[in-house]
Amino acid sequence: MPNEVAHILGETAHLSSLGFGVVTTDGIINYANPAFCDMFLISTSETYIGQSLLAFPLVCYNSSFTELQLALDCPDPAVIQFHFDRDIDPLTLEIAELNAGSRMLVAKRKQQLLIESISSISPNQRDHLTGLGNRMLLDEILENWQPGSPEVSSLAVIMIDLDRFKKVIEALGHRAGDKLLKLVAKRILSVVQEPDTVVRMGGDVFVIAYTIGLKSMGAEWVARRIVELISRPFLVDGQQVNISASIGIAALNHGTNTITDLLKHAEFALYKAKGTRKGTIRFFEPELALQAMKRYSLEIDLRSALLLKEFILLYQPQVNMTDGSLQGFEALIRWQNPARGLISPLDFIPLTEDTGEIHTIGEWILHTACQEAMSWDGNFSVGVNVSPIQFESEGIVDIVSSVLASTGLPPNRLELEITEGVLIKDFANVLKQLWALKSLGVGIAMDDFGTGYSSLSYLNSFPFSKIKIDQSFVRGESYPKSRALLQAIISLGANLDIVTIAEGVETQEQYDQLAADGCLGAQGYLISVPMPTSSIRDFISDFKKNPR
Ligand code: C2E
Ligand code: CA
Ligand code: CA
Repeated sequence: MPNEVAHILGETAHLSSLGFGVVTTDGIINYANPAFCDMFLISTSETYIGQSLLAFPLVCYNSSFTELQLALDCPDPAVIQFHFDRDIDPLTLEIAELNAGSRMLVAKRKQQLLIESISSISPNQRDHLTGLGNRMLLDEILENWQPGSPEVSSLAVIMIDLDRFKKVIEALGHRAGDKLLKLVAKRILSVVQEPDTVVRMGGDVFVIAYTIGLKSMGAEWVARRIVELISRPFLVDGQQVNISASIGIAALNHGTNTITDLLKHAEFALYKAKGTRKGTIRFFEPELALQAMKRYSLEIDLRSALLLKEFILLYQPQVNMTDGSLQGFEALIRWQNPARGLISPLDFIPLTEDTGEIHTIGEWILHTACQEAMSWDGNFSVGVNVSPIQFESEGIVDIVSSVLASTGLPPNRLELEITEGVLIKDFANVLKQLWALKSLGVGIAMDDFGTGYSSLSYLNSFPFSKIKIDQSFVRGESYPKSRALLQAIISLGANLDIVTIAEGVETQEQYDQLAADGCLGAQGYLISVPMPTSSIRDFISDFKKNPR
């Protein structure tokens, strides 16, 4: 009998990863290849030929048992799904009549089904790097999707974005990035089941068109599994690579009413997920669409703000705590929009960083701050906040030197405030630019000190002119032991010969405590709220009469 079967199925049947079996209409096994035995946990060493498939535990206790029994009896072709344990892929068993008394069985795991469906993707709908579908395939699926049978009740779009992918490319190059994407594609595929489809949208974004109602695992389960799988280390070119994935999900009838909105809504959810912490999963909610709309209209208004002269700079004084003298001012931007009112930089600077407008706005800030500082009565320093993005184009050194030249501000009066975010980006390259700025004679202050992860190690890498201790330490909310940390930062500054200045000083009590701890400078509402340049003349003369 095995020879006869091998003849029918072809020589490779015995070696195939598909399960092949031939059974009588009563279920008596006449032939089974190793893969078939493996799938139904039939030991190949025992003499299973002549035994009934229906008697094996995995079959007779399965919920599909009766269905199988009926299908064997009936001459029509049938397909039966065998669900075993949650962690084991379900099996698809195809049954066809061989002759009146026997049936041929073909058993497939979902991975094979997926590989079959992937290899049937037409070339123009295929992503050539990963072999997955591409955006065109997704469009087609979404266009043609119908809520067919009752089980296929709804459709979800699961959008996956890798969190540190750009860094991997920066560190290991594009070829390694491509290899990583292929590995990621495989891991995503391992979670997905027919008839769901995975496509790569381009870059490091993947999308799953997920049919809800067909299986026990929901879209959230799939998303969690993917986050977990992607967070495990990858091996690329012999190097261990660690990344994570953020995921946005939108589902039909769950806040999304039309197929055409699914992709957009999944993107909103993903955007929100990325704004939280790495490895976050977010479901779309109507509120997110509203936020996205607001953001979009803010973006439009922001584009014309510079031209319409809607930005202003306010200046907040900094005092020297050792002698109570006035040291200088920090420039803080405000957006004064006729319709929106006064908008905080916290609400629009991140947006300008996303759109790239921070480059032109940043240049305006530098120029304006230097120009206005020239009109003050005295050689006070001016602090200017510089965004990490401004270091990406490498133009910052030229911009600063031409601004100094055109405004005539002595370089030692300008202090650029950078955050740790600047150094995290591309350390070697940023360091080169910082040294070039320093050689212009400009000071570089480390802003929001203590809030990052590795601030301490950065202090040794560059001779900063100032450490600005974050407000959370001053208010004592940063850590339970914030006073101890504050004292540690102050003595660190003293040891490294870097001036420390505390931000957000609001009360006399805070001021006195900082002074007692040896902090050298203070800035905050206690001294003054930020003021326009037109108020500085009065402020300076008042300050001279009543120094701290
Ligand atoms: P920052 O550089 O840490 O600026 C200090 C912030 O603390 C300012 O908020 C300031 O108004 C506020 N502040 C000062 N004293 C006190 C106080 O005693 N109590 C409290 N609660 N707050 C105080 P602001 O102006 O809203 O700026 C927020 C952030 O936006 C800044 O944080 C900075 O990161 C960014 N930013 C402001 N202006 C610019 C700019 O011109 N360029 C760039 N790239 N970022 C800017
Ligand atoms: Ca600052
Ligand atoms: Ca700060």
